[in-house]
Amino acid sequence: MNTREIQQFVEDNIKSMHKDAKVYMIFIDLNSIKENPNASKRDYIHPGQITYILNGKDISEEELKQKQKIYMEQYSKLKTDQEKQKFVKKNPFISEQSRNLIETDSLNPEPKYLYEYINQEVECKKCKQKFSFEELQSDYITLGNDGETFSDEVCPKCGEWWCVVIQYETIEQALERK
Ligand SMILES: [Zn+2]
Repeated sequence: MNTREIQQFVEDNIKSMHKDAKVYMIFIDLNSIKENPNASKRDYIHPGQITYILNGKDISEEELKQKQKIYMEQYSKLKTDQEKQKFVKKNPFISEQSRNLIETDSLNPEPKYLYEYINQEVECKKCKQKFSFEELQSDYITLGNDGETFSDEVCPKCGEWWCVVIQYETIEQALERK
């Protein structure tokens, strides 16, 4: 299956799997909506994963350390300045290191509002048991070599995928009701 076929397979399956599942709208508790004190704070930065780039290529920290070690070992064996200059010219990566070595922090913007959803009891289409929507489980399977499908609506009682259809109210919708 190619990626498009997998996508089609997943969409068809989601449609058919959701068949007979009850649709639930989960509403935001209007009393819980608060302005987020950290929203749009410019200096609020989450440290992200560090990325090392060497001569335009992504490499791992370990790889970088290994290369540096080998380089320094070779470099330290050289005696004259001439030899050292020659070596640096031949192996340009260390001379470009400070330019190419980049640490990137990912910036996760804080949401404008904080809120909670009203608890809602839902019923599994298969086992007919009732439970809170918060108990729904997530699961995924891989399809072929590069496809993957998942469900956030797995029954906590019998394990049925797409046991209900959950639609979450968005904060924009909730603010209109307020
Ligand atoms: Zn069930």
